[in-house]
Amino acid sequence: MPVFSTKFGLSSLQPHQIWRCKLRVLDLRNTGQDFWNMWSGDMDHVPSSSLMAPVAEDMSRTKHPLTPLVIYIELCLKTKTSIKFLTYLLRWVEQRKASMHLCCKKIKIISRSRENIKKILSMVKLNCVQEVELSLTQKVSTLAKFASLLGKMRNVQRLLLSQIHGSVTEEQDHQALLQFTSQILRLQYLRDLRMAGPSFLEGRLNQILRCLKTSLYNISITNCLLTESDLTHLSQCWNICQLKGLNLNGVTLTNFRAELLQVLLEKVAGTLEELDLNLCGIMDFHLMAILPVLSSCSQLRVLSLCGNLISMTVLESLLRHTDGLSALSLELYPAPRESYSSLGILHQERLAQLKAELWEILTDLGCPRKIWVSPSPCPHCGEDMCYHLSPNA
Ligand SMILES: [Zn+2]
Ligand SMILES: [Zn+2]
Repeated sequence: MPVFSTKFGLSSLQPHQIWRCKLRVLDLRNTGQDFWNMWSGDMDHVPSSSLMAPVAEDMSRTKHPLTPLVIYIELCLKTKTSIKFLTYLLRWVEQRKASMHLCCKKIKIISRSRENIKKILSMVKLNCVQEVELSLTQKVSTLAKFASLLGKMRNVQRLLLSQIHGSVTEEQDHQALLQFTSQILRLQYLRDLRMAGPSFLEGRLNQILRCLKTSLYNISITNCLLTESDLTHLSQCWNICQLKGLNLNGVTLTNFRAELLQVLLEKVAGTLEELDLNLCGIMDFHLMAILPVLSSCSQLRVLSLCGNLISMTVLESLLRHTDGLSALSLELYPAPRESYSSLGILHQERLAQLKAELWEILTDLGCPRKIWVSPSPCPHCGEDMCYHLSPNA
């Protein structure tokens, strides 16, 4: 089957060229940032982490019509120009639908214009979509407008919600959220749920969890407020039994009972590969409570605890508890609490000394192991999380 991947703009590809070379598949995905920017307006098309591997292709569920030409594309509905261009492309395909199938497995919706989005999506086979990102920079009520569209994307495996601002205060917001979550019920292949900064979620996580019909392999809830009962619901829901990735970056757990985190991790210990608890306000007593369960996470590859205030003693204990985890290959820890003065100022020399002590413990433990220790905020760039400091060798 002739496959054609293009590095140049689609405008330079004439229909008669397609026919003349007897093209069967035209793949316009993963063509690199420059190409993508050129015609979709997406500036944030970045490569993904390990758990961001492309969603599994399952042709049995997303059968294509028996058309001579399949065009694979990723849609990013953002700027007016990109929407204008896509409208042109989709119309062009629409006129030739008997002989070609436009297959879109990944859609990112950033545009505020609901009309434009509806127009574009009405020309896309929503059955083909496997990954959808809604980044609406708008209020919760906006979610309702996309509810029915989401429900039609039956084969979605990864759902990302970002920049949905505002809390659910009015009845109209409440209804909108209900309308949206009720469509999650239809997503019978959903495996990966990511919510970045969902300010509407506080006290309502269960409303979403209740709608999950599948066992998730990744859940990411970041930079928002959760209640203790949210975390309890998460630890009790059956959908996380096979979880590989858990990310609670930027969710404050400081005032939560330490057992909550422990119970949550016990639930996923057998399968967990990546744990991100950066900037969670985790204290010594939280970490002490989860050390035993951490040591039983035999599949754990990535452990990230930066931006939390942890003492040297507990960090030492952490290194010993995780020593037997053979899969662990990336460890990111905060600078020990003792590296800071009572006013919170970082003492570089003190930090260097404490790091040397940590390396010594690792040497004593025998196995060669690399860890990263970074202060927060970073003295070089001021960021809470960064990779300015090199790991020990
Ligand atoms: Zn398709
Ligand atoms: Zn930095």
